[in-house]
Amino acid sequence: MMHTITMIPGDGIGPEISEAMRRVVDSTGVKIDWEIQEAGADVMDKYGTPLPDQVIESVKRNKVAIKGPITTPVGTGFRSVNVALRKALDLYANLRPAYSLKGVKSRYEDIDLVIVRENTEDLYAGIEFEQGSDEAIELIDFIKERGGKFRFEDAGISIKPISVSGSERIVRFAYEYARREGRKKVTAVHKANIMKYSDGLFLRVANEVGEDYPDIETEDRIVDNMCMQLVQKPELYDVIACPNLYGDILSDLCAGLVGGLGMAPGANIGEEYAVFEPVHGSAPKYAGLNKVNPTALILTSVLMLKHLGEREAADKVFNATRDVIAEGKNVTYDLGGTAGTSGIADAIIDKIQS
Ligand code: NAD
Repeated sequence: MMHTITMIPGDGIGPEISEAMRRVVDSTGVKIDWEIQEAGADVMDKYGTPLPDQVIESVKRNKVAIKGPITTPVGTGFRSVNVALRKALDLYANLRPAYSLKGVKSRYEDIDLVIVRENTEDLYAGIEFEQGSDEAIELIDFIKERGGKFRFEDAGISIKPISVSGSERIVRFAYEYARREGRKKVTAVHKANIMKYSDGLFLRVANEVGEDYPDIETEDRIVDNMCMQLVQKPELYDVIACPNLYGDILSDLCAGLVGGLGMAPGANIGEEYAVFEPVHGSAPKYAGLNKVNPTALILTSVLMLKHLGEREAADKVFNATRDVIAEGKNVTYDLGGTAGTSGIADAIIDKIQS
């Protein structure tokens, strides 16, 4: 069956790792028509926006997209294209598996866990008021009238909405995923002792949803304790369900546990659409050098192929990637080798075709 997939190479290192991934996937013989869509810092001049309408239209048409990273400059008015895309398509679940692979230098050997991160609310909701703006001053007055206290009033404000609906759907997604993939436990992460009405709500909903899944163990951890636990005993964890910000932080932590960002795949999934993208960013200092590791995006394509029902192609890509990394001959600098981005892709393709 022919699949039409939206491919968004992104900017920075995005185009070179996307090309490597596309060649690897095509080498399995799976039939994909890649509909290339430009987005990111490099297209601002051409379209006047980093996220042209046709990108969203293409994903809506094809339902599935795979994307390279896109730069979000710090301290400008430029909002994250990644966040905008997740919002526009209501991709509420961000799935970030972290597993040990032989040949990857890391402190642990037996990690196999999945972060399920809420993707649409929390401090990422984009409800922010600049320090000194009329809105921030009004908001501070409004809060003070209702008994809220500020240590200093020259504050910028970011709002942290966490809803029953948003929490319920992400936690349910985590349990459904656990059941489908034969996993045993879901751990909800929060700071409910301090943020009673946002994280407290998340925890309450997580426990309620957990009751619907008696076959899966339910537990929770306070986020700071979770960080320590993940560093000391990562093998104890299985599926970890988090609100947006904690999920972002913990997934980089877990990527670090299993050998770094060059190895960490990801998927953003909603009711209707799915956009597959690695955890790492656009690493601008390496752009165009044929140096970085495309493995995170290649492992991301494995998630995509499974989502498309192309299990055989997914297994081929995964097994070949795993074997090339285990051999350690044709790997990139972050894995201790000297191969370039295209070199490791060639080695994976050779394995697939041998
Ligand atoms: P980054 O992930 O781009 O890079 C941090 C460092 O990690 C790099 O300098 C490099 O040493 C290493 N690294 C990352 N990817 C690698 C790879 N494939 N192979 C080998 N090493 C790799 O993080 P950053 O520097 O914080 O962010 C750069 C830009 O990317 C920012 O504008 C940020 O907003 C954006 N970003 C985008 C996404 C996305 O598109 N989904 C995600 C995260 C960050």
